[in-house]
Amino acid sequence: MTCPICGKATNATARPFCSKRCADLDLARWLNGSYAVPSDDPEDADELDQALDLERTRSEKEKRH
Ligand SMILES: [Zn+2]
Repeated sequence: MTCPICGKATNATARPFCSKRCADLDLARWLNGSYAVPSDDPEDADELDQALDLERTRSEKEKRH
């Protein structure tokens, strides 16, 4: 089985993904309603971190409603 995000081999601890990062990316993709295509480009990793930070900020705001 391969990671649906990046196509690498699945890690048993992060199934069905290869890593926590890909699991987070999949979650962020769902939450943001957009399909980000990941790559090994470090800049993409930065974008993922930024997207996750944005999502966390938004979630925090919604909790305070
Ligand atoms: Zn992956």
